[in-house]
This record gives sequence, C-alpha cells and structure tokens, in this order.
Amino acid sequence: DRIARKRDREFSQFRERVKDSDQFKVEQSVFDDATLAALYKLVQDGYVQAFGGPISSGKEATVYSALGDEENGEVAVKIYRINASNFRDMREYLVGDPRFEELGGDKKRVVLAWVRKEFANLKRAIKAGVRVPEPLAVQRNVLVMEFMGNDGRRAPTLADARLENPETAYEVVKEYMRRLFDSGLVHGDLSEYNILVSNGELCIIDVGQAVTYHHPNSGEFLTRDCANIASFFQREGLDVHGDELENWIREN
Ligand code: ADP
Ligand code: MN
Repeated sequence: DRIARKRDREFSQFRERVKDSDQFKVEQSVFDDATLAALYKLVQDGYVQAFGGPISSGKEATVYSALGDEENGEVAVKIYRINASNFRDMREYLVGDPRFEELGGDKKRVVLAWVRKEFANLKRAIKAGVRVPEPLAVQRNVLVMEFMGNDGRRAPTLADARLENPETAYEVVKEYMRRLFDSGLVHGDLSEYNILVSNGELCIIDVGQAVTYHHPNSGEFLTRDCANIASFFQREGLDVHGDELENWIREN
C-alpha cells in the first residue's frame, strides 16, 4: 500500500545517504542491508539523530560516535559485523548461559545473541553498582550506549590515561570486579584496554563476552582477568598479584 511504498522510499534515501557519507567509507565493507535497516530503525525510534565518525574498529565490531536524543546527547553506536570471522570463538562464550541456549551453528544468530548479551550484561553491571556505559537501545547487530568522554572528547583507555593515583584506581577496579562477580558475571576480557577513564571516573566496557558463573570456563576467565589487572598495576608500581586479587574477589 501507499504507506509501505513511502517507507520503502524513505529507507532507500536513508541507505543512499549512509552509503555516500564519508564517515562510513572507513569501513572496508559497506554495511549490508539488514544493518542499514537496523540503523534506520534506530533513527526512526529517535535513539540516533545523526552519525559522527568512527571511534574504533575492532575485530568484531566498529564503534561510532553519534548524536542521540535530546536527553542523551552524544552516544556511542557499536555495530557488529555479522560475518565476524571468529564467530566460533564467540559461540564459546555463550555456552552454559541460561539466557542464550540452543543457538546451534548459525553465524547470524550467534552474533545477534552476542549483542543482546552485551546489552543485558551492561544492565546487570549497572544494577550491581559497576560503572559501565548505560545501554540505551539494541537493534539487531547494533548497540547504542552512553558515550564516555572527557568534555566531548572520547575517554582514553586506562592504558593511555596518565594515572595520578594508581592505588585508588586499583581499589576501584578491584571493587568493580567483586561486584560483577557477586552479580554472577565474569568479564572475560578485562584489561587496561577495556577500562576507560571518563572525567576522572573508571568505566568498564566491552562486556559482550562476559559470562555467568554457569559457564564451564568462568573460573579460568576470572583468573586471567585478575592476572591482566594485576600485571597492569604492577607496571604502575604497585605490589599486587593476580592470585591474591582472585582470592579477595571470591572471598568477599
Ligand atoms: P572491541 O570489541 O572492538 O574491543 P570495545 O567495546 O572495547 O570493542 O570498544 C572499542 C573502543 O571504542 C574502546 O576502546 C573505546 O575507545 C571506544 N568505545 C567503546 N565504547 C565506548 C563508549 N561507550 N564511549 C566512548 N568510547 C567507547
Ligand atoms: Mn575492547
């Protein structure tokens, strides 16, 4: 009918606009139609008003800055590639999670579950009192979240930030790890690269792979997270050890 035709026309115009815009040319592969449709829906629903440039391009996802609604201002938009080459590894992180069972071998379903898992993990972290970007919307392979920045510029990672007080930073990270663990989650990829320093506040990111304690490897992941964090703070001059950190998290 007429409304559907109008919608199709508007969508084609949106697609042309996105394909022509410079910020998306950085992508080696232009977004597929389903991703464009997801972006379009987010625009229609008011979560995104305009796209800014790319912030980071990783193995599975690219993060863009964008203008959100009036309340949120700048937002971060994380777009996962459906054809992520290592979806088999991604699937490993969904094992045993009662929220995402029975995915089978479908690449698309694994990636889509992954994005919903990241959204759900962000929510759970907030509930547990851990500072993470507030998740705002999820649409297919696209996650919209609070933009972490310093006066409009994106926040540096802990690896890039200059720490004035590593002792305090360590105490905060340690407490965040304990709270996450208490809420039944292990980050699974925690290091100085997945912690941002935003206006003096530490913020944990990239929780898509975070697993619940049901996961057969959750213990191993916690050990690895603790080793990464301890080794970073050792280089910052602190006398800390991964096994002590892990024991403290488990016992408190
Ligand atoms: P990847 O899986 O590619 O590592 P991340 O979630 O760690 O994805 O994001 C990659 C980079 O994008 C981060 O190191 C950070 O610089 C930036 N980034 C991610 N989320 C946000 C956010 N909410 N606000 C600001 N920058 C972000
Ligand atoms: Mn990361």
